Amino acid sequence: MKKQKNNAIYFVLIFLILIFLFASIFLIKQPEILYKVQNVFLNIQNEYQIKELDNANLISYQLENTNWQVDQSLILINNEHPLPESFSPSLAEYKDSTVFMNKALLADYATLTEAVTEHTGEKMYVASVYRSLEEQAQLHTNNPDIAQPAGHSEHHTGLALDVYVQNFGGINFIDSKAGQFVDKHCAEFGFIIRYPENKEEITGISYEPWHIRYVGLPHSMIMAKNYWVLEEYINFLEPNKIYKANDFFISRQDPSQPILLPENIAETRYSYDNTGYIIITAKINN
Ligand SMILES: [Zn+2]
Repeated sequence: MKKQKNNAIYFVLIFLILIFLFASIFLIKQPEILYKVQNVFLNIQNEYQIKELDNANLISYQLENTNWQVDQSLILINNEHPLPESFSPSLAEYKDSTVFMNKALLADYATLTEAVTEHTGEKMYVASVYRSLEEQAQLHTNNPDIAQPAGHSEHHTGLALDVYVQNFGGINFIDSKAGQFVDKHCAEFGFIIRYPENKEEITGISYEPWHIRYVGLPHSMIMAKNYWVLEEYINFLEPNKIYKANDFFISRQDPSQPILLPENIAETRYSYDNTGYIIITAKINN
């Protein structure tokens, strides 16, 4: 009798282990679901949750009469949205390195690399940041399968960086400690993995763990939380609606029209998104 009971317990245990194994394999193959499961366990449910604001008291602003800061952080560049001809990247040299990056990310990139070294002991380097149209055309001619045609690469903006650590470049970057850290934490510093796994249908580009793109906070965290790529995020932001996430207001509006925003805003900034709109980000001033 006792032996039968033991057998039953073993059977249930093996059954549970099998279920656990299958669930793990399923989750690993579905990064989107894995992300949601992690969010539940890490209990960061309310952090950077984006919600539409209703019943807001809105004020009309004329863009040209504001002193809001302009940057290029949310510009969308892909096959359908090439670099606008009038676009000129705001570049600056990164720490006397002769590497030029978009001004928008200078400070946050410094913080990210310091955090990588602090947490992993590895030093992260930049293989490529800004590329001119001529350089991209040359790359595309040499390697049409890997490099985008001129005008369609995020590297023209200075907002995208190809990073590596010693012995771990390209696709192998994800196998390094630094690559794992960047994958899990870059959103906290304003960066996104621009071409994640399982999003090739939307981005048009297969997984590139080394290509990080600056979008700034709170946008990077909202995208990471929802496992959205930039295309999905911009698509989510319905024009003229006001959204709230943490202590930020976010709104996507037509720059040729008066801009409607709540009264209690501070540190307001905006970026053209290359779909005909600007995305405005403001701190909620309580
Ligand atoms: Zn790249």
